[in-house]
Amino acid sequence: MNSTVDADDRRTLVAELGFDPDALRKKYREERDKRFNSERNAQWTPVSGNFSHYADDPYAEQKLTRAPVTEQIDVLIVGGGFGGLISAANLRRHGIVSFRIIEKAGDFGGTWYWNRYPGAQCDIESYIYLPLLEETGYIPTEKYAHAKEILDHARRIGRHFDLYSAALFQTEIKEMRWQEDLLRWLVTTDRGDKLHARFVISASGPLNRPKLPGIPGIESFKGHSFHTSRWDYAYTGGHSRGGMTKLADKRVAVIGTGATAVQCIPYVGQDAGHLYVFQRTPSNVDVRGNHPTDPIWAAGLKPGWQAHRTENFNILVSGALADEDLVNDGWTDMMRDLISSLLPKAEEEVSPAELLRLKELADFRKGNRLRDRIAAIVKDPGTAEKLKAWYPMFCKRPTFNDDYLPTFNRSNVTLVDTEGRGVERITPGGLVVGGHEYPADCIIFATGFETGTAYTKRSGFEVHGRGGETLSEHYANGLRTLHGFYSHGFPNFFILGLSQNAFKPNIVDMLTEQSAHITALITHVHSHGLSTVEPTAQAETDWLRVIQEKSAEARAFLAECTPGYYSGEGDVDKGLLVDSYGGGSLEFSRLLSDWHSTGRMEGLRFT
Ligand code: NDP
Repeated sequence: MNSTVDADDRRTLVAELGFDPDALRKKYREERDKRFNSERNAQWTPVSGNFSHYADDPYAEQKLTRAPVTEQIDVLIVGGGFGGLISAANLRRHGIVSFRIIEKAGDFGGTWYWNRYPGAQCDIESYIYLPLLEETGYIPTEKYAHAKEILDHARRIGRHFDLYSAALFQTEIKEMRWQEDLLRWLVTTDRGDKLHARFVISASGPLNRPKLPGIPGIESFKGHSFHTSRWDYAYTGGHSRGGMTKLADKRVAVIGTGATAVQCIPYVGQDAGHLYVFQRTPSNVDVRGNHPTDPIWAAGLKPGWQAHRTENFNILVSGALADEDLVNDGWTDMMRDLISSLLPKAEEEVSPAELLRLKELADFRKGNRLRDRIAAIVKDPGTAEKLKAWYPMFCKRPTFNDDYLPTFNRSNVTLVDTEGRGVERITPGGLVVGGHEYPADCIIFATGFETGTAYTKRSGFEVHGRGGETLSEHYANGLRTLHGFYSHGFPNFFILGLSQNAFKPNIVDMLTEQSAHITALITHVHSHGLSTVEPTAQAETDWLRVIQEKSAEARAFLAECTPGYYSGEGDVDKGLLVDSYGGGSLEFSRLLSDWHSTGRMEGLRFT
C-alpha cells in the first residue's frame, strides 16, 4: 500500500485484512535496523589459528594411514556429500569407471557426516530429499528422517554404486593445476597424492566451513565449547536422539537461534541442568507434523514416483499451480499461503507492482499466524513476545519444529534476548548481555557456516587454470561463470552449487539436476573423442548480464531483509542467494533443457 491511499481507504483495508500493513512494514524496518552490524560479513571469528580445533573431526574413529596415490583418472570429484555421490553414481551409470572422490571426512555424507547434533533432521520431506531412493530400493522410515538415517543412506549409495573403492577419505586437496600440454588437471593433496584428472567436479557444498561469532573475549572462555557441526558427545554423553546425561549438572549456553539451534535446543533443554539460549534474531518456527512412513502408501508407489513427487513439490514451492499437492507440508502450505490463496486467477493480468503487494500481504498474514502460534504455546508472555520474528518469511531459512517453542516453558530454560545486538562479551566464566553475566560451563556455538567469502577460501584450495590464472583472480570482482557451472580459462572444471544457477529449497533436487547436466557434458566430450570443454569469455559475460538483470527483485527484497547470510549480513552483494538465477528454478530448468535441445551447446568451446 502506498502513501497516496487516503485515510478512509486505509481504514477499510485494515478492517478487511485484520492488520495494518503500514504498521507491520514499519515494525519490520525498525527490527531490521537494530540488527545491522557495521562489520557485516567480517563480524565472524574464523575457524583457523587458535580456533582451528573447532573444525576438527570428532567422529572419525581413527586417523587413516595409507601410501600416497599417483594415478591417471578420468574424473576427480571433490566432496563425498550428496552432490559428489549423485555425480559419482551418474558417472557409473554412464559407464565412466575411472574416477576418484576426495573427501576430508572419514566417510561419505557431507553435511550429514558433520551435522550429528541432537535432533538433526531434514527439513524437506525425506521421500524427496534423500536421493536415489528407487535405485537403492530404500524407503525412509519417517516423513522427516533424522540425521543418522540420512547419513546411513549416503553410505547406502556409496555401497550400491561401489563408490567406496573410489574414495580417498581424510584427505584434503592442496591445489589444482591445469596442465595444458597434457590436457589434464594435476590435483595434489595433503597426503602426497598426485592425481592427473581429465575432468574435475567440485561438490564441496555451500555451507561447509563452520564459523564462530566475533564476540569480544571469545578466546578467554575457560569452560568447554564446541560448534554444533562438531557435536562433542564425549562431553555431553548421549546420541543424536538425546540422552545427554553428562549435561545434567551443567549450565549450558547455546548461542544462535537459526535452523540448527531450533532443532537441537529441545534436546539440550531436556538434558541440561540449566540452558541459556542467547538470541539475536528469532526464527520463524512453523508446524512440523512428522510421522512414520505408512507401509501401505509405500507399497503402492509406482516406478518414477520420486521424480514425480520431487517435481510436484518444486512447482508448488516456486509459486506455480499444480493439480495436486503430494508433499503437502509446511513448505507447500507456506507457498499456498504466500501466493496461491491471495493471487487472482492465473489467467488474469496482474502488474508486477500489484504482484509484489499481494505477496507482501500474504507474507504478513503468514507471519501473523506464526506469531499467534508462539503466543498460544509459550506461557510466559514476555518470553513469547521475544520469540516473535519480525521480517519477511524468506529473509532467513524458515524452520519447522513442534518441540522448540514448548522448551521455553521449562523451568530450567532461559531465553536471553539480546535485542538484536548479539552477545556483548564472553568472560572466562560466562556470557554478558545487557551488562549481566550469565555463568556457563559450556558454550555451544549454533552460529552457522561461512558464506560470502572467496570460493577458494571456503573450498580450502586454489585452482590454477590455463596460463596460471587462479580462480580467486578470475572471481576477484565477482563470480563469472556460464550457467553457474564453469568458467572461461578453467577447462573441464565443473562446479555444483547455488551461485549463478537456480536455487531450490530442496538442495538435493538442485544437485541432482546440476549433476545430470554436468554428466551429460562429460559424456559428450568422452564419447565424441574431444579433449576439453569450457565456456567462451563472451558467454560468461552474457550470462553475468542475465544474472544481474534477473537479480533486481531479489536484491530489492534482500535489501529490506533483517541481516543474515542470505543477504550477506546487510551487504547484499555478498548474500548467498543474490546471484542465484532470479527467474526461479522452473525457468532455469526450461532454459537448460532448451539449451540442450538445440544440440548447439551454445557458449561452450570444445577442443
Ligand atoms: P545460521 O547462520 O542460520 O544461524 C546462526 C545463528 O547464530 C543465528 O541465529 C545468528 O543470529 C546467531 N548469531 C550469530 N552471531 C551471534 C552473536 N554474536 N550473538 C548471538 N547470536 C549470534 O546457522 P544454522 O546452523 O542454524 O543454519 C545454517 C543453515 O543450515 C540453515 O539456514 C539451513 O539452510 C541449513 N540447515 C538445514 C537443516 C535441515 O533441516 N535441512 C537443519 C539445520 C540447518 P542472527 O540471525 O541475528 O544472525
